[in-house]
Amino acid sequence: MVSTTQLFNEQLEKLEQQINRYQGLLSLGFKRLQFPSEIEKDYIECSNTLFIDSSRLILSFGILLYLAFGFSDYALGQEQADMLWVVRIVIAAIMLTGIGFVFNRRLVHWVIKVTSLGMVVVGLSIVLFMYILEEPYSYAYHLGLIPWQVFVLVSLRSYLRAITVSSIIVYSAYIAVAYTKEYIPYHPEVDHLAYITLPLFTAFWGLLIAMGIYLGYQIEKSARMGYVKNRLLSLDAQRLTLLSEELHLLSTTDSLTGLSNRRHFEHCFDLEWRRAVRTQDSIALIMIDIDHFKKYNDFYGHQSGDKCLRQVCTALQSYAQRSGELVVRYGGEEFLVLLPRMTLASAQAIAENICRKVRGLNISHAQSNEQYVTISLGVAAMVPSMSDNEENLLRDADRCLYQAKAEGRNCVVS
Ligand code: GH3
Ligand code: MG
Ligand code: MG
Repeated sequence: MVSTTQLFNEQLEKLEQQINRYQGLLSLGFKRLQFPSEIEKDYIECSNTLFIDSSRLILSFGILLYLAFGFSDYALGQEQADMLWVVRIVIAAIMLTGIGFVFNRRLVHWVIKVTSLGMVVVGLSIVLFMYILEEPYSYAYHLGLIPWQVFVLVSLRSYLRAITVSSIIVYSAYIAVAYTKEYIPYHPEVDHLAYITLPLFTAFWGLLIAMGIYLGYQIEKSARMGYVKNRLLSLDAQRLTLLSEELHLLSTTDSLTGLSNRRHFEHCFDLEWRRAVRTQDSIALIMIDIDHFKKYNDFYGHQSGDKCLRQVCTALQSYAQRSGELVVRYGGEEFLVLLPRMTLASAQAIAENICRKVRGLNISHAQSNEQYVTISLGVAAMVPSMSDNEENLLRDADRCLYQAKAEGRNCVVS
């Protein structure tokens, strides 16, 4: 019993430490979007698993959309149309295969890195198309970068780092290409418009990235908050379960010996009695009392008395083997063994076994005629009918025990 309580307390302490830890995180607010390492690992695993389950469709849809824009390659691509289309198909095919492979719970730590890489490849391909084509046809591809950017923000919404890195790589590549590409004059008005539009477009896109990063920060922060709250809820539930188990144990066991207590016995006896009435099986009770225990206490002291009680209990414990059988500390140095589906003869044999076993513990008792600690046992059994009362069986066992005492103790009466 002591060790069970200790076990409970250890488990409870561990749970409470974890609860405190998560509560601490919640109050700190994790502005840096980073948990301590092992919690971070678990968070990434949970979050990426969710991502795998929820983003497969939207990413496949994005790739198909990218593929569908192949029509613009033919509308604007002139003699390069075939080449653009082939590049687009190859990239889309690689992406789709990638989704098939990487969107797998075993690669949960890779999925965001690979998805970001895919996003960057698609973005760079649009920049490449823009580079290959001449003005004004290439302008459609400048515009194509906007849905790309929005798609990155939507699909990677709770991954601030992935959003930032992939957006900045493609944005930088765009600036490098757009501002160094040789401009071949086309028509004065178009040329003028192009001259004004390019820096404006660059600024707007930069603004979009800045807003996206802010949004990503907020979304990731609330995702992390949600994770911590969920963990706290589940830890609280575990704690409650543990406490209710402990409460159940405390209310059904005796704290000194760890045996079932009288209250638990009454509950089980009632159940087994009614079962016996229904099935018309014999039900047996062995009532046990330690002999001259008062003298033992007086002579050796109460502490030694407790120790002796525990030793006797350990010896008794092995006698409840089958389901429904129960060893109970009924009172101070009195015990009961409940034996459902057991005849009087079998119960008597068990009682004699118990009697020998306790005597065989060889616990010295200088104040007893036997010189060792012994017990007296009363055994009763019956096939109960509707009109019988379970109290009667108890009284019979008690009467037999009384007789065993009268017959000189260290014996069984049934
Ligand atoms: P008998 O052979 O007739 O049963 O004599 P007895 O002395 O065993 O019976 P009695 O009922 O007179 O005394 C029971 C004693 O058991 C009294 C009490 O000191 C002791 N006892 C009861 N509960 C505990 C306990 O939890 N710890 C200890 N150390 N002693 C207990
Ligand atoms: Mg007694
Ligand atoms: Mg006694």
